[in-house]
This record gives sequence, structure tokens and C-alpha cells, in this order.
Amino acid sequence: MFEEVRSPSLGVTRPLDILAIAAHPDDIEQTCGGTLIRMAEMGYRTGALDLTAGDMGTRGTPDLRIEESNTAACRMQLAWRGNLRLPDARLENTISVRMTLAAEIRRLRPRVVILPYWESRHPDHYRCSEIGYEACFLAGLKKLDDSSEPHRPQKVLYASVYANVSPSFVVDISAQFERRMSALFAYDSQYGEAGEGSDLFPKQTEIRERLGAVARFYGNLIGVRYGEPFVVKEAMRVDDVTAMGVRSL
Ligand SMILES: [Zn+2]
Repeated sequence: MFEEVRSPSLGVTRPLDILAIAAHPDDIEQTCGGTLIRMAEMGYRTGALDLTAGDMGTRGTPDLRIEESNTAACRMQLAWRGNLRLPDARLENTISVRMTLAAEIRRLRPRVVILPYWESRHPDHYRCSEIGYEACFLAGLKKLDDSSEPHRPQKVLYASVYANVSPSFVVDISAQFERRMSALFAYDSQYGEAGEGSDLFPKQTEIRERLGAVARFYGNLIGVRYGEPFVVKEAMRVDDVTAMGVRSL
């Protein structure tokens, strides 16, 4: 079911409904993994594209991180995952990076794209957000290149879990939270209890508690156990004001 593509520019795939784009392997698991699992359960084709293999990380190697990300992909029931292997910690928004990503977007044809929120402590995260948005725009230009069909995603969502901003909406991931944790812990090189620098890194119980508290906070905003927050730049359309989900009082 899961289609692993190590050279994303090769091969053609069926269109995706949702594509999450992130800077590092394991970003997606932390920011929108629950939503991707929930959408896959609803029958949508979901995918993840990581821009770098995390080669500047203290622990693990790029090949190992990619292998772990494929295990995580299976746990999140993704239909597709790719890695562009751009340089970690020094990601730059260049025309060649934007064109590479635009070509992927044209090939994968997602209706919805999830990007990191546009402000972050880590430069790779906000650059990924900017590169992702600009590549979605480029992908829709008819005259970009003759060898692929133009495609512009209908919607861009920004995963805002690590940004201190009010979400536009929160997805209930109560039923998906445990699987999201198991996808994250597929990155044994990062979250394993043993190995290089293990005294410098938090233990799995600590990570579970931390991510659980954050997901619980966002869940609480919509009256459920665990939630994942997103920001959209457009207004949300409502057709029936009597059917709005979260209680005011
Ligand atoms: Zn990251």
C-alpha cells in the first residue's frame, strides 16, 4: 500500500488528496501526523514530503532517518512519502529548490497541502513554509515547463502546534494520538533510550508527556481529548450557523 520513492522526481503516482511538506523527518509526526492518520482512515490518499534527511542532527545518519521515516509512514497509513535530501540546517529558498518542489507538486497533484507555520525558532521551518507556499504557486503556472501539467492545490493549511498563535481550527485526533506517538517513536535514532548523546536527549516518557500535554491543550479548545491546530490565511466559510461544532457556553 505504502509507496516508498527514494528519488521523488522519478515515477508517476496517483494524485494525492493531502500532502504534508516539512523540513525534517519527524516534523510531520509531531505537527500534523494525527490529522494525516485520521484522513487516511476516512479513505483519503495522504502523503509526506520531507525536504531534508536531518543530516545535521547529532544522532543517526541521513539513510537511517529516511528508513525510520518510511516505518513512520506505514504507521501513519501514508500512501506516499519522499525526501528531497536538501541540506539540513541551511535550507535556502532558491529558484532551483522552488522548481524542484513545484515539479513534485505537479506530479503528486495534492488538493490540500500542509506546511509548517510561517514563524519558528528554527530557520528551516519558516523557510520550508515559504518555499512550500511559493512552490504551490509556481506549480500552477501554465508556462512553467512543457513536460508537466500545471497544478495548484486548492487549500494550504499551516500546522501551528509549535507557534504561539490562536488556531483557525483544531482537528480532533483523540482516536489517532497513540498511533501518532508510535509513528514518532519509529525514529529510534532520535528517540531511542540508548545510543549517542542519550544523556542529552529527553526520554520517551518525557516526550510522550510533553506532546500529550500540548495535544491535550489544543483538544481542550474544541472540547475533545487530543487535538492538532492549524492556521489558514483565508476566512473559514460557514453555510449553517446552527451546525457549528464547539460550544460557546
Ligand atoms: Zn524540524
